[in-house]
Amino acid sequence: MIEDSLPAVAAALFGLCIGSFLNVVIYRLPLGQSLASPPSRCRNCGYSLRWFDNIPVLSWVWLRGRCRQCHTPVSWQYPLVEVITAALFALVVLLTPPGVLTASRLILVSILVALFGIDLEHQILPNSITLPGIVVGIALSVFAPPGWRDSLIGAVLGAGILYAIAYGYFAWRGEEGMGMGDVKMLAMIGAFLGWKAVLVTLVLSSFSGALIGVLLLSLQKGGMKYALPFGTFLSIGALIAMFVGEPLMAWYAGFL
Ligand SMILES: [Zn+2]
Repeated sequence: MIEDSLPAVAAALFGLCIGSFLNVVIYRLPLGQSLASPPSRCRNCGYSLRWFDNIPVLSWVWLRGRCRQCHTPVSWQYPLVEVITAALFALVVLLTPPGVLTASRLILVSILVALFGIDLEHQILPNSITLPGIVVGIALSVFAPPGWRDSLIGAVLGAGILYAIAYGYFAWRGEEGMGMGDVKMLAMIGAFLGWKAVLVTLVLSSFSGALIGVLLLSLQKGGMKYALPFGTFLSIGALIAMFVGEPLMAWYAGFL
């Protein structure tokens, strides 16, 4: 029993470290800063974090969420990103047969967490993540499910559907309703997960987007314009599609 859970525990620990790196990506990439150097600093006093200040989750808890030097609060988003990445890594290892598919899904999970954070904070989905993501997704699908054909169709379908929606919205309202970042992101999701997952992702993210939108409206927090960016919903939709897409489709097909 204990031996059975070892791979998942190892994956979670690995996920904590990757999550720590994703925090750097989320904070620095949109600002055009180097991901490699300098080492992480306190945003308030410039204190340069040493290795023992940088242990995922533990350092934050030990320092009670404050900078060691100036005691300015450090955002709880940092440990949260680490914990979420760790949980997702453990889930991937538990639910995926070992091999190329596991590697492919760990990469996709990392990308989705990074894009979620970046879109939430900056309302952009950087080309430097989505475009290489499309290539990597198709390349890995040569060796693992969904297979390269399904992957190519997924990428084209993902881009095509959202491009058509963006084009239609622009023609109808004369303003941009959806960015090209969303188009490339769904293409990338299709490249990793195949065309069926594109449809599941789209349904789930539109549904959850509408749900949150209505919720925000009813709370009088402003109109749909202030709702969360669509890339965050694409991330959530893709994660659900990845983990439970197949049983979800089988369940839905039962109604037809
Ligand atoms: Zn400080």
